[in-house]
Amino acid sequence: MNATLYSTEQARREAVMQRDSKADGQFVFAVITTGIFCRPSCRSRHPLPHNMRFFADAASALAAGFRPCKRCNPAGESRQQQQAAQIARACERLDHSEQPLTVAALAAECAMSQAHFQRLFKQITGLTPHGWYRARRAGRLREALRQGEPVTRAIYQAGFGSASGYYQQANSALGMTGRHYRQQGAAQQIEYAFGHSVLGEILVAATKRGVCALFPGEDQTQLYQQLVAQFPRAVLQPADPQGPLATRLAEILAFTARQRADFPLPLDVQGSAFQLQVWQALQTIPAGETASYQDIARKIGRPRAVRAVAGACAANRLALVIPCHRVVRANGALSGYRWGSELKHQLLAREAQESRQKNAP
Ligand SMILES: [Zn+2]
Repeated sequence: MNATLYSTEQARREAVMQRDSKADGQFVFAVITTGIFCRPSCRSRHPLPHNMRFFADAASALAAGFRPCKRCNPAGESRQQQQAAQIARACERLDHSEQPLTVAALAAECAMSQAHFQRLFKQITGLTPHGWYRARRAGRLREALRQGEPVTRAIYQAGFGSASGYYQQANSALGMTGRHYRQQGAAQQIEYAFGHSVLGEILVAATKRGVCALFPGEDQTQLYQQLVAQFPRAVLQPADPQGPLATRLAEILAFTARQRADFPLPLDVQGSAFQLQVWQALQTIPAGETASYQDIARKIGRPRAVRAVAGACAANRLALVIPCHRVVRANGALSGYRWGSELKHQLLAREAQESRQKNAP
């Protein structure tokens, strides 16, 4: 993720000697005796160090007259990218399937063993294939009900089928009956609370399912307006003083001050399948490190969807919890931040300092 890691010739040589797959995509190495260039992780036998030349990317190696290795295909997609793209396609198949597909069938389409497919799916999406299917189906149901579809049709269209047993499943996916959900329908109930942390004013909002928004800012009125803009059809009300949001506000503020590592309440992350994938990928960037929009696009198997990734980062409603502040331009420049580039700078500086302290001898 960090391009500066492989900036010296020695670091690059070491990465090649260790066949470090994290270095793939950061540079390529060419062998002057054979005229061939490779990814750092290539399994082929290593040349003598003095016969190695390094290039920033495949295009520069090609321009210098080297040919791509047939074994590691350095001018094409890496194995990691191919796998991420395969998982993304499996997610799409699940999204458009009326039946839960078997792991065996999905794995066979990706030409992977079932165990490998399941491990990779979990690693990339954070969910099992069946968990993904259920989450997306529940999302479709909520959306159909919110748009005013009749309950029976909404349940059927979302992929629950028409047998009576599906009602039960649909109700448990919603946490209430479909009818009740539709009555509340457009009117999603959202509670909110304000707190004060080192970052300034904080607005936290939650549905019955979990925390759906965390906004930092300077002014409570502006924060409230952001909430209205984000959930225009919701019924907003101040948090019940006995409820989880109010009683655990201090812990949430401790999280924003990085005095605790994990977020204290369940989340209700609402977004499209693509946004969920991007947000999942953002959560894998450790504090103290940054990634580029390109890194994230590659990670989710959509190397060309850089602008869409930037859009998903900008649509994040859970500041800090989904660390979109750790995404910077490929050249290291900060780029925009929904809650102001000054705050982004402050957050990154704080995390960089922490990780220096942690790594200090
Ligand atoms: Zn090779």
